[in-house]
Parts: sequence; structure tokens; C-alpha cells
Amino acid sequence: MNCDDARLLMHGHLDGELDLADDLEVQRHIEQCPKCASEYAALRAMRTRLKDETFRFEAPAALKEKIRRAIPAPTASRSNGYQSRREGWAPRAARFVVPMAIGAMLALVIAPRTIAPTLNQRLANEVVASHVRSLMATHLMDVASTDQHTVKPWFNGKLDFSPPVTDFAKEGFPLVGGRLDYIDGRPVAALVYQHGKHVINVFMWPTTGDLTSAERIETEHGYNVEQMMVAGMNCWMVSDLNQAELEKFAELIRAKG
Ligand SMILES: [Zn+2]
Repeated sequence: MNCDDARLLMHGHLDGELDLADDLEVQRHIEQCPKCASEYAALRAMRTRLKDETFRFEAPAALKEKIRRAIPAPTASRSNGYQSRREGWAPRAARFVVPMAIGAMLALVIAPRTIAPTLNQRLANEVVASHVRSLMATHLMDVASTDQHTVKPWFNGKLDFSPPVTDFAKEGFPLVGGRLDYIDGRPVAALVYQHGKHVINVFMWPTTGDLTSAERIETEHGYNVEQMMVAGMNCWMVSDLNQAELEKFAELIRAKG
């Protein structure tokens, strides 16, 4: 991917709107190209600033009233023949234009809420992208160990929190390692489990109270994703395991949490 393509796609990348292949390519380009990386960082910073609630304002009542008054009252002469239809052109145009203006204003007010993916949706996209990257880039693990007493201390000093680490080998989900990852703009713990030939990535980071505690299973790009709270942590699980088995695994984590 060249810089021109990357620049075109980085908006969609930022908003989590690209398909997986494009998303990964843009990500890879940004990681390798300092110029695009700085452009992307600027874009990201701008989006954060635009999301600031202080930028939102309600139209004053006087303005609403003014717009309402500018809309012509419906006329009764619509079907009165050629003459009245000619005269009726201007009001008809007004009838068309004014609601359009209102529509455009409403769109401006509503758009940031409806077009921007929800936080959970964005995080789901991020964890799936990380999961896929971890499998593609031969960077599945920083610490390869089936021993929870090796994996847990490995995170010490690398993160400002200590993720709960449990091996579920007896239950058929052996711990195979861990690594540092980056989700939602912060370093997170990624624990790697295996079930048969399937890899499960478990991402954990302390909650800031910005997620609901509702447990949800969803499918992103053909992967199953589950999110829940464990011991005060956001916990996201991603795998190509089927939903029932991922749910079984989630039960194990939940019981430990
Ligand atoms: Zn570039």
C-alpha cells in the first residue's frame, strides 16, 4: 500500500469501517511510514477533540421558532389549475428547501452519535484486528509458557495492573502464553489459550467504568467475540472457536474472576 491509498483509507481505519484486509494493510503501512503515522496521529487527536461534549450545543429556542415560522403554512390552492400552480412555485420550493435545511441541521447534530461506531463496536473491531494480527505476524506470544506462575509475573513492570492469570488445561483450555498488546489507546494484557487447534486471545485491562457489565457475544469478521467484566477488568475474548465453546471458556474465566 502506498501513502496515497493509506491517506484515503485512514479515516475508515480510524472509524473501524474498513474490512479486515484493508484495515490490516493500512495499519501495517502506518506502522512502517513515519509520514502517514504522524498524519494518522493528528487525525486521531482531532477526532478525540471533536468528541468533546463541550463542542455540542442545542439550538436556542429562538432559532427553532424562527425556522418554524419560515416554513410556509400549507396552501389550499394546490390543485386549482395552471395559474395557481405557477404562482405556487416559490412556496413549493420553500416547502422543499426549508425542511432540507432543517434536515441538514439535524444531521449535523445527530451524525456524530449515529455514524460513529459505539465504543463496544469499536473495541470489538480492535480486539479482532489484534487477534488476527497476533496469528499472522508470528507475534502470538512474548512469553510462551503453560505455567500461570510464569506468565503472571511476566507482566509485572510492563503494565500498571496485574491481570488474573489462570491455566485451564484440566478443563481443555490450556494457557500457552501471554504478550503485551495495545487496545483502545492503552497497553493491555493479552493471554493466549488453546483449545484443540484453535487459539483464544483474552485481552484484559482495568475498567474505567465506560463499559456496561453486560456480557455479550457477537461475531466480527467471522470471529466470535465475548466481552465481560472480570475482577474489575474489561475482559474481551476472541477466537474462531464456535460460540458455544467460547461461551464455555468464558464461564471458566468468569468463575475465577
Ligand atoms: Zn505513507
